Amino acid sequence: MTSVKRLFVLLCGFEIIPKTVSTYNIGARFIISVPISAYLLDTDQGWVLFDTGLDEANLRDRDKLDALYLSTGWDPQPVVKPHHELERQLNEIGIGFADIATVILSHLHADHTGHIKHMPHAKFIVAQREWDFVLSGKAPSYFFPSDYALPGLDWHLIDGDAEVMPGLNIIATPGHSPGHQSLVIELPNTGPCVLAADVGDLMINFTDEILPGGMTDQTEALASIRRINAVVAEKQAMLFLTHDPELIQQIKLAPDYYD
Ligand SMILES: [Zn+2]
Repeated sequence: MTSVKRLFVLLCGFEIIPKTVSTYNIGARFIISVPISAYLLDTDQGWVLFDTGLDEANLRDRDKLDALYLSTGWDPQPVVKPHHELERQLNEIGIGFADIATVILSHLHADHTGHIKHMPHAKFIVAQREWDFVLSGKAPSYFFPSDYALPGLDWHLIDGDAEVMPGLNIIATPGHSPGHQSLVIELPNTGPCVLAADVGDLMINFTDEILPGGMTDQTEALASIRRINAVVAEKQAMLFLTHDPELIQQIKLAPDYYD
């Protein structure tokens, strides 16, 4: 029994980063370009987004580009071409921001929170630990309060694993950030899928248990890599990564979908 009918992978842009951002202490001389993904689920209980990409409007406004990116060391800036824009991809599927019922956030880094502001009617699900971290004042510059510290939003804070609906489960995978979480979904034909988000950017993070470059806790980050590997093995699941530049070229992208 699953409530999830279809999974769409949305390619929302690219980030240009030192390889050490993805692989801890490995590859400092290399610059790589990684995709920014978000995921749309067609369910019995409405449309669900898992992450929202970043807000391209901040890249096109010179003052915001400087304040949010260049002056804080996020240089070069991310790339979002028109065909990467989230709203345009939703429109190509025949829906818009107003049709999104629920938004689940893996964590609150800016490449995941950009379009929260365009869905003020939706239900937002984030981990309590992630919310506590942003309220602590210790969140670094790649958290953008202008994306999520907005009045009137319907936040649902969860502690650990949670079933959102049959066939759509959140599993806690902290370490990259304090409240990082991943999704395990069940599709009618494709079967089980794991959406690991930023537990590891690259497939090698999982095959070789290489830590991500950005972490708030190394022990948790390694445990989360192992948890994803264990779930994938146990369920014989298909693994989707948000930031792997090779994998993104091998899978179906929206408006195509997995059912
Ligand atoms: Zn990310």
